[in-house]
Amino acid sequence: MRGTIGKNNSDLPEMNRSAVVKILQQQEVCSRADIARQTGLTQAAITKIVASMMEMGIVSEAGIITGCDNRRSIGLRLNAGKHQIIGVKFARQMFAVGVFDISGKIYTQTETKYSLEENPQKVLSAMKKQIHDMLKKYENVVSIGLAVPGPYLRDEGRIAVVTRMTAWHTINFIEEFKEEFHKPVFIEHDANAGALAEWLFGGHAQSASTLAYFLVGEGVGAGIIERGTLFRGMQGSACEIGHVSVDVHGPRCECGNYGCLEMYCSASALWKKAQTHVPECLPNGTLQSCDACNAVFQAAWAGHQKALDVVRETAEYIGYGCVTLINAYNPDIIIIGDVMSQGGDLLMPTIQKVVQQRVIPELYNRVQIKISTLTIDPTLYGAAATATNKVLQLPSKFSSAGKWGSGK
Ligand SMILES: [Zn+2]
Repeated sequence: MRGTIGKNNSDLPEMNRSAVVKILQQQEVCSRADIARQTGLTQAAITKIVASMMEMGIVSEAGIITGCDNRRSIGLRLNAGKHQIIGVKFARQMFAVGVFDISGKIYTQTETKYSLEENPQKVLSAMKKQIHDMLKKYENVVSIGLAVPGPYLRDEGRIAVVTRMTAWHTINFIEEFKEEFHKPVFIEHDANAGALAEWLFGGHAQSASTLAYFLVGEGVGAGIIERGTLFRGMQGSACEIGHVSVDVHGPRCECGNYGCLEMYCSASALWKKAQTHVPECLPNGTLQSCDACNAVFQAAWAGHQKALDVVRETAEYIGYGCVTLINAYNPDIIIIGDVMSQGGDLLMPTIQKVVQQRVIPELYNRVQIKISTLTIDPTLYGAAATATNKVLQLPSKFSSAGKWGSGK
């Protein structure tokens, strides 16, 4: 259903509630009839959703208003701050923690860098301390959402293979966080979290039926949302495009496959290429790969031809990833996010050229490829959105003060 953002399928209540929240957030006060019209849901469905949200204090009535159809009706207003969410992005060399409300407004955010050699327990302790500090300051936090690199095994609560992070494979995030915070914790694969953020907050829900979020950072992966629903696969590790071979005879990847896409266009792949071809562009001292990439992008912007060549070669591989996404999922839009999105217009002409050369015109002409424009990291945003969707799905299970049901 194009042009509307709700679904009448009763299996998708969380997306429907998110759609209602989104409309109330944008318009401040709105009638039930207006929400029904804008979401494409029936008035009966909206009445039911609004009743449950009013019961939990997420929505309240705001007097009589004149709706778009000129009929007088009861206005509804969002009480977004009543339920706050902590979002956590966990990446190979950094983690970020933020407090959001259910409309996606951010209250505070921290970012911490660490080295790959750091002991995982030490990094986890630092992360937990920051979360505790935020819980002390923000009393309405009802849930925590965490985005992790993949492949993430949903049923086991741990990440299966994160290249260069073997020490983390045994950490069970669900157990660690549940025991520590006594709040429901929800975990999502980082690319899925980014896709969710783009769908909910990037303004694509009304124009796209199939959205592909292409995460190109320390790792490479994709999240696919089709008509409001994330495509997860049996164990939650679908769309691991970073581990699709682009050279079946290439070097062996930690995942067991050979010549994986991630080995050619991740932030560390660009860094490695820069060390070989343009070491003069890299600042001295210990670097993180995102800093190294930024230095190469800056040099390329300034006209350093060899730096531009390195960036273009990386962009070519991002283009091959787009070709696979288009052939496998036929999206309306591909949004490129994470570290590589900082390369912006340096990357796009090469990506577009590769896609144009390698995809049939009927598909190429219909797909938009864009760099993410969200001002907050989509993965962090999406970590919070993952928990927000669960809160909106079953608000009665959540309260800032007390007990909660199963968070899995
Ligand atoms: Zn691999």
